[in-house]
Amino acid sequence: MQLNTLGWSAFFKDQILNNKIYNIGRITHSQREKFIIHDGTKEIHCEFSGKFRHNIIDKDQLPVIGDWCQFSRPYTGASLRQCAFIERVLKRKTKLRRIVPGEQSDEQVLAANIDYVFIVTSANSEFNINKLERFMLLVNSSGAKPLIVLSKIDLVSSNQLQKLIDQIKENINVPILCTSVEHNIGIQELLDQLRIGMTGIFIGSSGVGKSSLINLFIGEQKCTVNQIREKDNKGRHTTTSSILYNIPGSRNIIDTPGIRELQLVGYEIQSGQFDDILILINKCKFNNCTHVNEQGCAINNAIELGLLESQRFTNYKKMQRESDYNEAKLNHKKYIERKRRWMKETDQLKNLKKERKEKKWKTMISKLKTQGIQIQYFIILTIPRME
Ligand code: GDP
Ligand code: ZN
Repeated sequence: MQLNTLGWSAFFKDQILNNKIYNIGRITHSQREKFIIHDGTKEIHCEFSGKFRHNIIDKDQLPVIGDWCQFSRPYTGASLRQCAFIERVLKRKTKLRRIVPGEQSDEQVLAANIDYVFIVTSANSEFNINKLERFMLLVNSSGAKPLIVLSKIDLVSSNQLQKLIDQIKENINVPILCTSVEHNIGIQELLDQLRIGMTGIFIGSSGVGKSSLINLFIGEQKCTVNQIREKDNKGRHTTTSSILYNIPGSRNIIDTPGIRELQLVGYEIQSGQFDDILILINKCKFNNCTHVNEQGCAINNAIELGLLESQRFTNYKKMQRESDYNEAKLNHKKYIERKRRWMKETDQLKNLKKERKEKKWKTMISKLKTQGIQIQYFIILTIPRME
């Protein structure tokens, strides 16, 4: 296998300073903080050092599946396995991110250097246009190309299918491809979206048929899939690690644990999906327009003239709110982290100064002692005069 079949390109090559391309590879397997990197000829187990982590300012600089890395000379570890340390993560061409659900929300990069994101939604009862729009926001901020995969079309009539397609087209301007794993429809077309060296990823709610599609593509590598699948508490098989498969035709597919809860980050809303609404907002007479009942509100005018669906504007507002909230949470978290770091550093500095001072006194005292000079200690207290 050559590096370019894994997606190596001038974009990454230009980042190698002395142009010597050695110990370079792409992360093809990641599980927590353990990685496997493929260097074009072999796979090498990799980790990152404490120093590497220390030098990182933002968590999103930690290596993820799909990253291109420079790594140290591999050494033979205790298990007689070749192992190396990741020294540098090359700048990413694209990255798929999400907000980590939970108390303290945080941004997390799910995968890097993806060319295509296949947003899978099934044609049967699980179909949900709002969810699809939310996935679109995630993709828009990634830099990768989106494609909507309408799966399980064998479960609906052609009439029903056409209605779904129309509904998607009304709301989202992205190519749609219909598939059925059961009847082998659309599978080759889907695969053909990826040219040599390109990387695709499947996202979508659980149960929409992502694994079925991935399994078809990765073929005989399937057994590895089962190995990395563990049963969750409901007895279902879940993926616990992310894997990049190099599939026939020199294309790559990334399989990551399902995105269950989807949260939005602020600037995602700016790009692409609601451009028409953003343009209208700019046309409102007042720039602090609340789009409720102001005179000269371009949004209200458009709704009245039937140029904008009010439901669409409601969706926009909903996402904007959610996005603002997450952004605020994220900024707060970053602020706290930075402050903690800064306090730690100033503490370290203070300790250092104290140590230096003590050392200075100690050497002075020992010098005097060697010269036979007696030392007497006084404690001088200064008390402010009370009047
Ligand atoms: P994932 O959670 O998105 O990975 O979904 P799975 O690939 O595990 O699929 C969920 C269920 O849908 C499984 O029972 C599949 O057999 C079924 N399924 C997947 N693709 C198709 C399809 O094209 N047609 C039909 N009828 N069922 C499908
Ligand atoms: Zn307005």
